[in-house]
Amino acid sequence: MVAKKILLVEDEEKLTANLADKLRAEGYEVLTALDGETGWGMARSNSFDLIVLDIMLPGLDGLSLCRMIRNDSESADVPIIMLTARGAEVDKIVGLESGADDYIVKPFGLGEFLARVRVQMRRPSPERGLKQDVLSAGDLRLDLTARRVYRSDAEIKLSNKEFDLLTLFMRNESAVLSRDFILTNVWGHDYFPLDKRTVDVHIRWLREKIEENPSSPKRISTVRGVGYRFEG
Ligand code: CA
Repeated sequence: MVAKKILLVEDEEKLTANLADKLRAEGYEVLTALDGETGWGMARSNSFDLIVLDIMLPGLDGLSLCRMIRNDSESADVPIIMLTARGAEVDKIVGLESGADDYIVKPFGLGEFLARVRVQMRRPSPERGLKQDVLSAGDLRLDLTARRVYRSDAEIKLSNKEFDLLTLFMRNESAVLSRDFILTNVWGHDYFPLDKRTVDVHIRWLREKIEENPSSPKRISTVRGVGYRFEG
């Protein structure tokens, strides 16, 4: 089996070396970059299974780099985990449409870090699918094999988590889904206890992309005190 390849962009050399060692011990192939520009060059010239980005980097910062990776068709689908300091930076990740799939707040334990990495690695890769699975609701069409979403034939670009969320909603049309149910099904059973706000944030991002008017959503409605309901 070919080793899964991870890019680690972090300017704290000791932390970078430590994380890289641990990932290699788990069987991953790891490339590291100590600044954003180098990371961007690596991300463009290689194909990775996961990119781990620190937010605070000298020069090009992690959030900008994350958006650049998302906007490049070669790397748009790669899972991204952001590393962040407490407080204001977390708000930046959840408040802006950063395109990250997950974030870890520093300081973090290695066990937590590796668990988060494994979750991203378990995402099924598109080329593995054999049957042509398509879900549709209203003018939305979701191709599970190619992991693409179309609205009246125009493609909508979704992040991995947004895609998984929409899949879950389309498979459970009209049902009210609790945040716990969504966390378990989209983020996984053994996912580290996660702020339920994560669900709200990803739903907000998804609404931006699939709703006619995101501030008055028609497809994904909030059921106060319970969760969310999808109606095509
Ligand atoms: Ca840093």
